[in-house]
Amino acid sequence: MLHGLMMQMPLTIASLIEHADRHHGDAEVVSRRVEGDIHRTTYRELNRRSRQLADALGRSGIGAGDRVATIAWNGYRHLELYFAVSGAGRVLHTINPRLHPEQIAWIVNHAEDRALCFDLTFLPLVEAIAAHCPTVRHWVLMSDRAHMPAASKIPDLLCYEELLASGSDSFVWPEFDENTASSMCYTSGTTGHPKGVLYSHRSTVLHSLAAALPDALNVSARDVILPVVPMFHVNAWGLPYVAPMVGCKLVLPGPHLDGKSLYELFEAEKVTCSAGVPTVWQGLLAHTEASNLRFSTMNRTVIGGSACPPAMIRLFEEKYGVHVLHAWGMTEMSPLGTACTFKSKHLGQSAEEKLRLQTKQGRVLYGVDMKIVGDDGQDLPWDGKAFGDLLVRGPWVLREYFKGEGGDPLKTDAAGRDWFPTGDVATIDADGYMHITDRSKDVIKSGGEWISSIEIENIAVAHPAVAMAACIAARHPKWDERPLLVVMKKPNAEVTREQLLAHYEGKVAKWQVPDDVVFVDAIPLGATGKMLKTRLREQFKDYRLPTA
Ligand code: ADP
Repeated sequence: MLHGLMMQMPLTIASLIEHADRHHGDAEVVSRRVEGDIHRTTYRELNRRSRQLADALGRSGIGAGDRVATIAWNGYRHLELYFAVSGAGRVLHTINPRLHPEQIAWIVNHAEDRALCFDLTFLPLVEAIAAHCPTVRHWVLMSDRAHMPAASKIPDLLCYEELLASGSDSFVWPEFDENTASSMCYTSGTTGHPKGVLYSHRSTVLHSLAAALPDALNVSARDVILPVVPMFHVNAWGLPYVAPMVGCKLVLPGPHLDGKSLYELFEAEKVTCSAGVPTVWQGLLAHTEASNLRFSTMNRTVIGGSACPPAMIRLFEEKYGVHVLHAWGMTEMSPLGTACTFKSKHLGQSAEEKLRLQTKQGRVLYGVDMKIVGDDGQDLPWDGKAFGDLLVRGPWVLREYFKGEGGDPLKTDAAGRDWFPTGDVATIDADGYMHITDRSKDVIKSGGEWISSIEIENIAVAHPAVAMAACIAARHPKWDERPLLVVMKKPNAEVTREQLLAHYEGKVAKWQVPDDVVFVDAIPLGATGKMLKTRLREQFKDYRLPTA
């Protein structure tokens, strides 16, 4: 092969903040701090402090490849760590604080974290696990001296601002191989232990380039982005990297993720675009509906992480004039795989037809390839009807879990290409729009036929009295499994079992209508804001259906 004669410039994470510093130096990064106030900085200042922190980490003995963990909200100090740690060839390990403390300790030990940086909120949590994490040499409280506790169970607790001040801001980002590990994130591990996904500089930068494109998240220097999706959950879907790459203003909400706080920040900072899981938007919409509010600058929001109910898309689009960008991905995919944007041929369609399309998870970003296969591993047709296991491949898709956990996850096709099985079941239509019918473990198998729990839930939440609904399989002597609908009502709303079941008439086939409805005060949510169906299945494992 003849090599091209272009520069070998490695794709590194530090290059993103360097670019923002040089070309968008005065663009703002606004954070609501744990301490309660609003903090303002710029990319220029953020790059300076990140370099200083990178130098300080080096002086305190954190070497190349060492893991530095964070347990923190979305804020500028967390963002500084994103660049300070990865930019100098160390690995940023973001930890989800909503996991059980024992699970967090397990993850810290498995990753062999050398340092752990955390927000004030998490001091009690960190104090509870510190004694069980022997690999951690430095515990860093992400605050200034004034907010340090008088006494702590953690020995030699460091103050972030003091640590940072011990470094020099004349530090220059090093250049190294773009395949160097940059950050890691553990899957939530609903079955078995969590598994580590180790990203590289190359995968992260390529993912950012693709994510910013018009048919993906469509972000530019004119945007003001507020990621509600946490920086501890798959790098906030890549937005902390995309924002400096395009030079847009970034607004970080800290620990205040309730509807009222978010709404205030959207308005005060003139946010144009946001991103989060459906449960977050439910809280926001409950607030705006109750107080009859409108968004003056927000024109779109990315919704993913679990299926976005059509009723939510409709409300955002029709009442609020906020365009919903339904997206799909997973921790193992950095996370973006697909986004639902129209093609030219859809522009003339009716609002109803467009809404129906938006319910799908959408088309792949360039860089990701996908296919659906049947039980025999053979490719299924792209007709929007045939459904099967969804497989993906691409330069920001996982090849192997950290430390080889779980063995080889890939499936190799006849041409010798490796594919990652997503665990999702989907259809793909002739235009390449993918539609998730279910997670394979949530599908309800009734007498050999499959019922999509997502479809049943979407219909339930379209009922005005329903706040949240989960459809799970209940055991049935004749059909093996039958759908059971678990419903949380809106406050002060009334609806009966019979009314809800009647609500399904004409919307799905008769045999897909749930056999029963149970009302609960709350539906348990997992660490990433998704309904914990494993917990519900456990809770209702002995449930006797009236049809049984
Ligand atoms: P965790 O389960 O640890 O939160 P991820 O955040 O990686 O893991 O979740 C990935 C899974 O979330 C996908 O495999 C899919 O089942 C689900 N998911 C993500 N986005 C969507 C979406 N837009 N519609 C339906 N399911 C989604």
